[in-house]
Amino acid sequence: MQKIKFNELNISKEILMAVEEMGFEETTPIQTNAIPKIMDGNDIIGQAQTGTGKTAAFGIPILEAINPKNKNPQAIILCPTRELAIQVSEELKKLSKYKNNISTLPVYGGQSIGRQIKALKKGVQVIIGTPGRVMDHMRRGTLNLKHIDFLILDEVDVMLDMGFIDDIETILKDIPKNRKTLFFSATIPHTIRRLSKKYQNNSKFVKVAHEKLTVPSIEQYYFEVRKGNKLKVLTRLIDLYNPELSLVFCNTRKEVDRVNMQLQARGYSSDAIHGGLNQNQRDHVMNKFKNGIIEILVSTNVAARGIDVENIEIVFNYDVPFDTDYYVHRIGRTGRAGNTGKAFTFIVGKDIYKLKDIQKYIKKNIIRKNIPTLDDIEQVKIEQIQNELMDYIDQKHLGKYINYIENLIDNDYTAIEIAAALLKQTMEKENAEEKKIERTNFGDTGAEAGMVRLFINKGKRDNISPKHIVGAISGETSLSGDLIGVIDIYENFTFVEVPSASGHEVLNIMKNNQIRGNTINIEPAKPKAV
Ligand code: ADP
Ligand code: MG
Repeated sequence: MQKIKFNELNISKEILMAVEEMGFEETTPIQTNAIPKIMDGNDIIGQAQTGTGKTAAFGIPILEAINPKNKNPQAIILCPTRELAIQVSEELKKLSKYKNNISTLPVYGGQSIGRQIKALKKGVQVIIGTPGRVMDHMRRGTLNLKHIDFLILDEVDVMLDMGFIDDIETILKDIPKNRKTLFFSATIPHTIRRLSKKYQNNSKFVKVAHEKLTVPSIEQYYFEVRKGNKLKVLTRLIDLYNPELSLVFCNTRKEVDRVNMQLQARGYSSDAIHGGLNQNQRDHVMNKFKNGIIEILVSTNVAARGIDVENIEIVFNYDVPFDTDYYVHRIGRTGRAGNTGKAFTFIVGKDIYKLKDIQKYIKKNIIRKNIPTLDDIEQVKIEQIQNELMDYIDQKHLGKYINYIENLIDNDYTAIEIAAALLKQTMEKENAEEKKIERTNFGDTGAEAGMVRLFINKGKRDNISPKHIVGAISGETSLSGDLIGVIDIYENFTFVEVPSASGHEVLNIMKNNQIRGNTINIEPAKPKAV
């Protein structure tokens, strides 16, 4: 029995009212298992994936245990980042809505410490904080820890990934021993077990089995791609599915920055988030994403963990994650709160073995899909136009236009011919609009959208390899190597794609320049059939 009704738990009517209002129908498995154990006074390690309701799993028993008459901090929850602290804080605020006289406060870096101290002085029973700021308050003596009954480490694995181990130990050591200590984490690396032995009391391990974790409402597919093709496949899929919000995961910070720049250079509304950004920068990017100011967020694993943004329609695994666990975390970012979502994974060569492991782990097949063709994309556009037309027919007064068409029909054209001609014309305008920049500058060079394809009259015969092309162009022009697109080197010549906006600069500067001691000729390529 993994899921039960909240009223089957021994919890107060204030909390029952709150969860009812939050729309929770039944407990999640981690809640079913953890809440009674914590209420019985056990220390626990709770393991469950992101998005499985861990906050309420510890939040409910803590709120039940707080003595509202005691105005000192009685529980401290440590979270790895400010976003997560705020999220936990918001969830606890909702859960405690009908528990009058319980006050909660998030404390994190970047917010005025003076304001936090003032709030603390008023009396706060539950503190949600990042390790750095909590230690700061400890050093200043502005946080009274004598009454702490509960110490919760949330997303422990992320905190460890972020290098918080020493801070965590400092805090664990300083808080009275007769407290309860709760760890929550999606994965349990060895360090957590060590911390548990040292700082927990007889702790119970509550684990939610993997098979309960996959979210059935996510459609999972993979695409076999070539390495140099990933970006093209990504942009095609985005064009085809046109998601309002999507997430693109890469395995390294460098790749995240690169893909983001390449998307931006092609006119997509994207931004990047990873552990190399400071907290303010990350907040800024997250807010833009949450508010739909950017549509595509490119991210590493760590940066996006635990972040609860609704309505993400597609998660792209641009790189297959190294760890099978991460696959579940990543795709769990879509299909939240019962929405359906899609997860698309790009497979290059031997990645297929990793994919097999993942399928075994999630006990579900990930289905192969063909890379969409330009025809597929046209098909989607036509459907959009058809829908718009139907709306027109339903809503608008077509009176005088109907007369015009009747004139044409009198001239021996059929209604179908007329409609098809108008549709064709609309499609052509649509395509022309898209290719406008390239066309006006270079004509169609056969490059992907937003790029121009250049021909260089040197190739393998001249010992030229991609790194020489990237080196020469990025060395001589203002274009960064990251933004250089597909490079195809043949025996006697080479094609390279660069962003349209840089096309003229590259042509002007590289003309008669040298690559590997060869004076080159460079010109816009002729289109080829795709
Ligand atoms: P985790 O900490 O495991 O990543 P959260 O506690 O952030 O997960 O919960 C993820 C989302 O699920 C939140 O929006 C939360 O309000 C919601 N949620 C939590 N418990 C339930 C439940 N029993 N039923 C429905 N939604 C829930
Ligand atoms: Mg959480």
